[in-house]
Amino acid sequence: MILAIKILMIVFFMLGIFTASDIDTEDVPPTVSDDTEIIISLPDNEISPDIPPVREEWIPDSLDLKRAIPNDSTPPERLVPVTELPPISDDGIIRRVKISGDIKAVSLTFDMCELDTSTTGCDVDVLNFLRERNIPATLFMGGKWMRTHSRRVKQIMAEPLFEIANHNWSHGNAALLSPEGLTAQILWTQAEYELLREEAKRDDIPKVPALFRLPYGRSSKSALKTIAGLGMKVIQWDVAAESGGNNTNIKRAVRSARLVAGMTRPGSILLFHANSVPKGTAVLLREVVNLLEADGYVFVKTSELLEMGEAETVRDGYFSRPGDNKALDSKFGADGTGRRKRFTGK
Ligand SMILES: [Zn+2]
Repeated sequence: MILAIKILMIVFFMLGIFTASDIDTEDVPPTVSDDTEIIISLPDNEISPDIPPVREEWIPDSLDLKRAIPNDSTPPERLVPVTELPPISDDGIIRRVKISGDIKAVSLTFDMCELDTSTTGCDVDVLNFLRERNIPATLFMGGKWMRTHSRRVKQIMAEPLFEIANHNWSHGNAALLSPEGLTAQILWTQAEYELLREEAKRDDIPKVPALFRLPYGRSSKSALKTIAGLGMKVIQWDVAAESGGNNTNIKRAVRSARLVAGMTRPGSILLFHANSVPKGTAVLLREVVNLLEADGYVFVKTSELLEMGEAETVRDGYFSRPGDNKALDSKFGADGTGRRKRFTGK
């Protein structure tokens, strides 16, 4: 009896080996262990392109605060950029893009500007949030702001999520400046960008910005001609997100975010600031992004949005309704720069 059991056990054992070897070699497609081997042999970034890189947080410090850096109203070291863009046709002011297809893409834009008479800050919380969530954005920088915050600009230049655009040297109001004054505001900014790009040794980013934003959204027929002559497209917004309010209070930010999300459509360009002038932008931004992501929106740089459809344009810039920004003409010095005398670039 015991012998019979032993023989049976040996037979079963042999059968087991045969069965196992059959499965291993012939009957089934490559097993999990085959896949594992392939995965292990690939470099990290090919395993899952959807996992964003882990970005080290930029630590905010006292130099990021508003008015922390003394004001300097001198011109930039270089007045004219080495790279000049070829003129383009004056197609008006772009407020949004009519997207061809079903994609719900929008562009988040941030103005970083200061007047000739004072300095503003750099809202590192906003930049860190975008980096943490892997959200591309377009940053419209004043040339003077770039010089004040040159160390941050060089950091930003090394961050592929961000695209830098031109927002005049010291926030000159294009409806009030002479063509020479406006030309100097734009070219000084291009030149400052070029200087910082050279210092940062960033050959991988555009030689000069090609997108321009009108300070206060103000323009004139002759201003649009001047800007087109300098090869720049004018980008405004169809959603002014902060609406001048203080969003540090979370309840208020949640309310504002719902309004912003309600105004947003595929192809929208949203206006925020990252110069620490409006308060609580980072709080508001988080709420807006959460709502839009939950609604299926994706975020792209403005230059990418422009590639996705036809630009919707107007001839006069404004915040929410035509004419709602005209009152600002008399509030920031002679020409929006804060100076008493007109800026001429001389
Ligand atoms: Zn601005």
